[in-house]
Amino acid sequence: MVDKRHWDKLNLDISILGFGCMRFPVKENGEIDEEKAEAMIDKAYANGVNYYDTAYFYHNGASEVAVGKFLSKYPRESYYLATKLPVMLLDSLDKAQEIFDEQMKRLGLDYIDFYLLHGLNKHTFDITKNLGVIDFCEKLRKEGRIRYLGFSFHDSYDVFEEILRHYNWDFCQIQLNYMDIDEQAGMKGYELTKSLDIPLVIMEPAKGGSLSVLPEEVSAPLTKLDPAGSDTSWAMRWIGSLDNVKVVLSGMTEMAHLDDNLKTFTDFRPLSAEEQSAIEEVRAAFSRRVKNGCTACRYCMPCPAGVDIPGNFMIWNKYGMYGNKRDAAFGWTGGPFAVKDEAKAKNCIECGVCEDKCPQNLPIREDLKKVQKELDEVAASFKR
Ligand code: SF4
Ligand code: SF4
Repeated sequence: MVDKRHWDKLNLDISILGFGCMRFPVKENGEIDEEKAEAMIDKAYANGVNYYDTAYFYHNGASEVAVGKFLSKYPRESYYLATKLPVMLLDSLDKAQEIFDEQMKRLGLDYIDFYLLHGLNKHTFDITKNLGVIDFCEKLRKEGRIRYLGFSFHDSYDVFEEILRHYNWDFCQIQLNYMDIDEQAGMKGYELTKSLDIPLVIMEPAKGGSLSVLPEEVSAPLTKLDPAGSDTSWAMRWIGSLDNVKVVLSGMTEMAHLDDNLKTFTDFRPLSAEEQSAIEEVRAAFSRRVKNGCTACRYCMPCPAGVDIPGNFMIWNKYGMYGNKRDAAFGWTGGPFAVKDEAKAKNCIECGVCEDKCPQNLPIREDLKKVQKELDEVAASFKR
């Protein structure tokens, strides 16, 4: 059985491993493969996993339906269900109520244990405050429809601190892994949650899969210490070694992912000092793989041709470090946050103004040509 951690603040005992229901196995037509997904949930439950995390958006709404159905065979008090209010869709509290009612219907439950304001950042936190979304959630709590209120987060540390101090949250959910210690909330955010006694749920502990299959030269220090340990297990053990981390979410797609996680979180072993040093070596090995040394200082901006110089380099450097084609393709062409066409490297007119301002003395013009070529190839190969 997987280990549980005690949440002093809420007096609950919850499994360290949480089942993230955003990457269920799917069939060829993209629908959730219910047979496979349910078998995974059943095995997780049988092994003591009692925290299941979904959201309004996951699998285009089908995740809430599926997880509600899969868990309905178990006693309601034997598991904790977390889902999220899509604050970005709200223009009124009537809309919030409508979405909440829809979620309850999808889940087929009388109450939600952990309700999160989804993806808070500066913009969605403004919506939260302007509409009175926290008061709305307090009302839901008084009605017995939700038990605990928290938020998930994607923005800079300063925004995180503002949100965290704004309200006495029951818990919160951040992205944290051994490579993102200075990204978003980061370790500074972790320390703040600890000092404010706010329990943490962790998402992306393996950085969206980037820490699950390490390049050989990067993983060498880990393999030397434990040849049998998977790359994912190291990422999980790193994050699980932090005592204010109460739940580590893993979005598992295959039974093998679940089996590996069950092994890691049963008789959990925090990293020793020697193992922490090996993780330091991994960090250093990843850093050596960056394509150029852009620090995103933005001294080179604005570019007269509209090129987002640090934005282009950031995707290129991450691709160099992690070799994750899916992430690189998504960052280049895949979504609303991808580098816009008019800001891509190809628009450079080679005026050279940026190079005079770059403290790293980067050959920006030459590097931008490489960025465009390599990321176009990655995006094309990923589509095939
Ligand atoms: S060299 Fe290219 S990227 Fe640099 S400022 Fe000129 S147009 Fe922009
Ligand atoms: S000035 Fe140089 S290091 Fe700074 S963002 Fe521009 S390219 Fe990157």
